[in-house]
Amino acid sequence: MSDQPMLDQHKRVIAEVIVEVPARLVDRTFDYEVPPALEQGVQIGSRVIVPFGPRKTQGYVLGLKLQTEQSEQKLKEVEQVLDEVPPLSPELIQLGQWMSEEYTCLTIQALQAMLPAVLKSTTTKRTVTNDGKQQVVYEVEDKVTIKEVQVVELAVTQEELENKLSELHAKAVKQREVARYIASINFGGNTSQSLDEESAARDEVSSGASAEISIEDRSELSKASMPDNKRDRTELEKHREILQVQRVVEECQTTRSTIKALEQAGIVRISKQELQRDPYQHRVFERTQPLTLTEMQQSVLGKITTSVDEQEFRPFLLHGVTGSGKTEIYLQSISYVLKNDKEAIVLVPEISLTPQMVDRFKGRFGDQVAVLHSRLSKGERYDEWRKIRDGKVKVAIGARSALFAPFRNLGLIIIDEEHEASYKQEETPKYHARDIAMFRGQYHQAPVILGSATPCLESFARAKKGVYTLLSLQERIFGQELPPVSIVDMREELHAGNRTMFSKTLHELINQCLEKKEQMVLFLNRRGFSTFVMCRDCGYVLQCPHCDISLTYHKSNNSHRCHYCGYTQPKLHECPECASDHIRFFGTGTQKVEEELYKHFPGIRVVRMDVDTTQQKGAHEKLLKRFGDHQADVLLGTQMIAKGLDFEKVTLVGVIAADSLLHLPDFRSAEKTFQLLTQVSGRAGRHKLPGHVVVQTYTPEHYSIQTAAQHDYEAFFNHEMQHRKQRGYPPYYYLTLITFTHEDLPFLIKESDQAVRWLKQQVSPNTLVLGPAASAIPKIKDRYRFQCMLKYKDEPQLAHVLSGFLQKHKQLIEKSKLHIQIDRNPQMLM
Ligand code: ADP
Ligand code: ZN
Ligand code: ZN
Repeated sequence: MSDQPMLDQHKRVIAEVIVEVPARLVDRTFDYEVPPALEQGVQIGSRVIVPFGPRKTQGYVLGLKLQTEQSEQKLKEVEQVLDEVPPLSPELIQLGQWMSEEYTCLTIQALQAMLPAVLKSTTTKRTVTNDGKQQVVYEVEDKVTIKEVQVVELAVTQEELENKLSELHAKAVKQREVARYIASINFGGNTSQSLDEESAARDEVSSGASAEISIEDRSELSKASMPDNKRDRTELEKHREILQVQRVVEECQTTRSTIKALEQAGIVRISKQELQRDPYQHRVFERTQPLTLTEMQQSVLGKITTSVDEQEFRPFLLHGVTGSGKTEIYLQSISYVLKNDKEAIVLVPEISLTPQMVDRFKGRFGDQVAVLHSRLSKGERYDEWRKIRDGKVKVAIGARSALFAPFRNLGLIIIDEEHEASYKQEETPKYHARDIAMFRGQYHQAPVILGSATPCLESFARAKKGVYTLLSLQERIFGQELPPVSIVDMREELHAGNRTMFSKTLHELINQCLEKKEQMVLFLNRRGFSTFVMCRDCGYVLQCPHCDISLTYHKSNNSHRCHYCGYTQPKLHECPECASDHIRFFGTGTQKVEEELYKHFPGIRVVRMDVDTTQQKGAHEKLLKRFGDHQADVLLGTQMIAKGLDFEKVTLVGVIAADSLLHLPDFRSAEKTFQLLTQVSGRAGRHKLPGHVVVQTYTPEHYSIQTAAQHDYEAFFNHEMQHRKQRGYPPYYYLTLITFTHEDLPFLIKESDQAVRWLKQQVSPNTLVLGPAASAIPKIKDRYRFQCMLKYKDEPQLAHVLSGFLQKHKQLIEKSKLHIQIDRNPQMLM
């Protein structure tokens, strides 16, 4: 059972500690002696304070042993253990070590990525005078602030209570009242009721129809609307529920000193208790029951539960159109896992972690669910995390980082919308959730489900090869048709004299929609990313002849450049295809569309949702609620409105410009366009009202737009695979992106050039090394950016080569501030 060596009382124990100092030089463990007083507390995975050089530093115990190779005298001691339960399990330590190799990051960075931010130390610097010498010391500040509250409970049995009360001074009326109130909450209103009867009554209450309201809500309800006798009945729920002193003071309109007096009389006990914040405590979740599955769903579920029974690691790809009942399958798979006394993790992309999604999981599993999303405060996040660590919940649902939920007996991992780019972390460690899921699934011998209506090419290719087991749901639950999609050619609009951003078709449909008092979703790709150049007359887009991606305009030297290979050509003034001078940058912002809507449709009510309008905590929910309550006709936004939303009255979906996505300088742009168009189309006509989708584009013939309009994933997949094969992109080749940044451009050019030359000699001859070339975003925060791309089929030693590469350039990195970032299987190539 135990991962710790048998500890002999007489031998000293040595802890291998990795410190929170993010530097390659100290990316290893150091040995510390564990003083006898801490032997109980120091475990594998413990967070500890150790002396490190002249300072004190926080670190993690990665191993325990009885002997050290370091010279005996010099061993320093562990000074402090910070948590009662170690935050890292042996599994997570292993995972961290694997991540540091796989993603060439520091082990400490990988470990920190798994833990809530509050556990990270902040060191404060102080200067002290020691024997007349000035010395700098660093001190670790423990940021974990645990809120404690005073609670009160009865210290006597029911029978003793009346005796005790009669012992009180005759005038202590208030004290008696308060004591009875506390008793009523501890034992229910009727103090003569026996315990057995009570618990029977309690069970009855909790199995009743209204039983699924949480305790907090219940007490709110009771205060507000129930007569006193009913109130007592709901208070039965609170049997042995520990009461906050503050609440007693409020409810009984008394003071703390009254309660204090009761404590002195031996009637109640006052103590302190940790307060856990629950961000959902004021929400009522209506309990839902499992639906009767369709035959198709049943067969899919059966495969998953079999794999749970067999306790084997098995990756599934669940390919199902929107509305085909995937989520219901997730819910029932989780139920099955919970019945087997195991735990489950569900990942959903941040933007679809909407209240609607949370409702479905909370509705089915109630308090067994922890929700982790980025809008939680650090404290709230820490509380949710602790609920998982302490086994108080069995299901974690959240964005990317929820994958590190410290469960110890995982039975299932689900990644919904598995194609989403947000599953890739763009900061160090640059990991992909899919890889982590596979690691944990293997560790626990548990199935992993990747679900999507539009799987990424890599995943679908793996499923076709049998690496993943393909599960397919090709019909919507109620057999609803997917909505018809009209593709509008914006070149023709221009030729017909329409220079507005709304085509004639879209204009008419918006008017109809307004007349019928229905709602619409208008979609625009991200805010004005306008570096590609397009001809408005013929739709021509300037591309790299070698890489098949759009060229990026660089203002600094008035040229168009490919940031994969460095190909450059001077700025164009007319279209090479049709000689029109309508050739210009492309891109419109959501704000501009909003203005145009007001101009062309007087009185229209618009909810705009983009990065600007959703910064504040809760803004996202508020805007959606406004739209959901039909206080607006239009929901206008970027990516974030593309998925997960389900509004009954939405009958029209308009894509203002499909091209801005299609021509991003990224080899995945066609795939992303297909995915996005499929997702937004799924927003229309989900219920009784029939829907319509309009896609405006300058390249209507493009296969990603055509196949999306036909809702034909396989056709898209086949076409795109051809493309990838020809151009040598994933899934036929693997990619690794190396980005160099520096403030001084000539220095950057020289050093990146040399570095890449060195790299070319280390990799196998079949590996293509492209660049260095200026990145698509050539400068960020005054640092110039160059990149080098590796393309390879088989390079088993690459992780090793790359870590050697960083080692070799250590000096440049630390002294000259040349930053080198390595991204394995990059999602963003900018
Ligand atoms: P997906 O996740 O594939 O988009 P959902 O699981 O959300 O699909 O299902 C779409 C809708 O159909 C939801 O409203 C869901 O409650 C309903 N649904 C799913 N499965 C069933 C079923 N077996 N019987 C009845 N309704 C179902
Ligand atoms: Zn042209
Ligand atoms: Zn190129």
